[in-house]
Order: sequence, then C-alpha cells, then structure tokens
Amino acid sequence: MQCDTDRNAAPTTEALIVSEADCERLVSSDLAFDAVEAVFGAMACGDAYNFPVVREAIGHAGALYGFKSGFDRASLALGVKSGGYWPGNVDKGLTNHQSTIFLFNPDTGRLKALVGGNHLTAIRTAAASSVSIAHLARQDARVLGMIGAGHQAQFQLRAAAERRNFEKVVAWNPHPEMLPRLGAVANEIGLPFEAVSAEAVCMHADVIITITSAFEPLLTAEWIRPGTHLACMGTDTVGKQEIDAALAGKSSVFTDEVAQSISIGEMQHAVAAGILSKGDITSIGAVINGTHPGRTSDDQVTLFDGTGVGLQDLAVAAVAARAAIAGDDPVFVTL
Ligand code: NAD
Repeated sequence: MQCDTDRNAAPTTEALIVSEADCERLVSSDLAFDAVEAVFGAMACGDAYNFPVVREAIGHAGALYGFKSGFDRASLALGVKSGGYWPGNVDKGLTNHQSTIFLFNPDTGRLKALVGGNHLTAIRTAAASSVSIAHLARQDARVLGMIGAGHQAQFQLRAAAERRNFEKVVAWNPHPEMLPRLGAVANEIGLPFEAVSAEAVCMHADVIITITSAFEPLLTAEWIRPGTHLACMGTDTVGKQEIDAALAGKSSVFTDEVAQSISIGEMQHAVAAGILSKGDITSIGAVINGTHPGRTSDDQVTLFDGTGVGLQDLAVAAVAARAAIAGDDPVFVTL
C-alpha cells in the first residue's frame, strides 16, 4: 500500500545543464543562422511570438535586470532569457552582460534545460544581422563596413563574412584604441582590415553593421551610397541611437519585430520624427517566407533594425540543448 507521503511526493524530473563552455563548443554560427532564420520566419507567420520585455534598474550594483520570453509553436521552444547588465563586473573579472536561458516543456511547464546565455547572446545577435545580409544585401557586396569594435562586433564580423564574398573590412569606432582587436579578427579569417573615418566606411562599404552603445547618431543619411545594406544592431533600449533618423526615410526598412523596432529599436527615432510609421517597417520573416520581395533593385538602400528578441535566444538555446543531449556526456540535474 502506498503511504500518504509517497502519494504526495512530487515526481522528480531531470533538467539538462548546458554550460557556457559547451555552448561555445556546440553552437556553430551556421547552426545559429538556421535557427534564427527559422524563428524569424515563424514570427512572421504568427507561429511564434515574444512576450513583453521586462527591463528594470534594480537599485543594486548599478544593475539593469530583465527577461525576454516567448513561445514558438512551430519548434515548441518555450522559455525565458533572464539577465542584464552589471557595470561593476569587469572589476571582478566577469563580463558585464550576464544571462541564463531556461527552456520549459510546453506540455507540462517543467524545466527542460538551463543554458548559459552569454555566448549564445553574441551568436544569436550575429546570426540576426547575418540573416539580414543573406536576404537583403546585394549579391556582389565586396566591402564590409563595421561601426563598433566591442565584444559583439567580433561575432558580427565573423558571421557577416560567411554570407558574401567580402574582400575587405573597413571600420570606425568612437574609441579607436578598440579597433586593432577587431582587425585581428578580420585578419584571422583572411580579410584585409582598414581603420577609416565613419564617412569613409559609408563611402566604401556595400554592407555596414553598426554595433555600438551610442545615444547619438554616428552615421548621416547623406553619407550612405545607393545599394548599401545596413544592419543596425546596437540600439536595443529607449534613447539609444546609431544612425540619423533621416536615413530611415531613404531606406527600405526591415526588422526582427516591428513592435520592438519602434519602441526600443533604431526606428523609435524615425517614428518619433514622423519620418516613418509602423506600416512602413517589414518583418524580415516576411522576406524569409517569400511573402515580401525584400531588395528589388541594386540601388535600393536596405536597412535591418535588429533589436534582439527572446525567441532568438530560445532558438539557439534549443540548438545547444539538442547538441548536448546528442553528445557524449550530457549533464542532468534532478529537480
Ligand atoms: P561593448 O561594451 O563591448 O562595446 C561597446 C561599443 O560601443 C564599442 O564599440 C564602444 O566604442 C562603443 N561605445 C561605447 N560608448 C559609446 C557612446 N557613448 N557612443 C558611441 N559609441 C559608444 O558592448 P557590446 O557587447 O559590443 O554591445 C554593443 C551594443 O550592442 C550595446 O548597445 C548592446 O546593448 C547592443 N546589443 C544588441 C543586441 C541586439 O540583439 N540587438 C544584442 C547584444 C548587444
């Protein structure tokens, strides 16, 4: 006979743990590209949706903490990325941006996996601009321009280089002392690298990625040549801004999620200035799904506003979890 204690005991469940090191080992940029492209497509056809983002100054350690969450009915990825920005971490030998991704079983709500989110954030952000380059940049793009040279910029450069036959990288950063490190990444993958002015980046580059923490426009509309593809990746908060709002007016504008683009993304400024409205911005998923033509001429300026959505995190975390389970020694904890 079963005693009461046994009957009331919660059945245990096993959750997978995927460390930061395992994420680095297991999630290639190609796998991230496929996962992010698929989830952008699912978002555009209504299969996947992001829940409202929470981001708060917690009044401790100067930290900004929050979570990004969503559900993809196509892949059944349900979960949340929790974390934020701790400015004092660098003095402790830690990365200022810290995050962890939780994946849940959509049938039961039980925790499926706990996945390190730091490396995956960089990989999924780079995959987003890379997806935009694959779908929107001219096929004959040869010069890659980088505005920004921080942590994310290295991942952006590597992922972009996989999408077109770039022959050269030109770069500018508000803090020029950071550029040699980005130059080393370019050289490592066989691309010549030149540090130039921001205007010269626009003059020479066919594809430009902006990935800074700027709160003022760094690029003006007049500098951008016809045919350029821009991936604006740095603006993910109210008040941040990397490009002149007028540039949106001369571009065909695409984004990961329209609601985020106009609230916390680069398009917040163009919309506030009356240059664009919500209806002028296209979900990149529509291009992926073939319901929007994307670039229609070689002299069109295309602009991707990559704001960063929770579903991207869940998509790459699911890749990491699958690879870990398929590997030799997956680590489980009993809950
Ligand atoms: P980082 O601190 O490593 O580098 C910061 C970069 O911004 C450097 O190029 C630096 O020179 C520049 N910068 C710093 N302060 C500036 C200022 N006041 N004006 C202009 N430029 C300034 O940061 P990171 O991890 O490389 O992140 C760069 C940006 O990307 C941040 O704004 C971050 O929030 C954003 N980000 C976006 C996504 C997304 O999904 N869209 C994901 C991750 C990070």
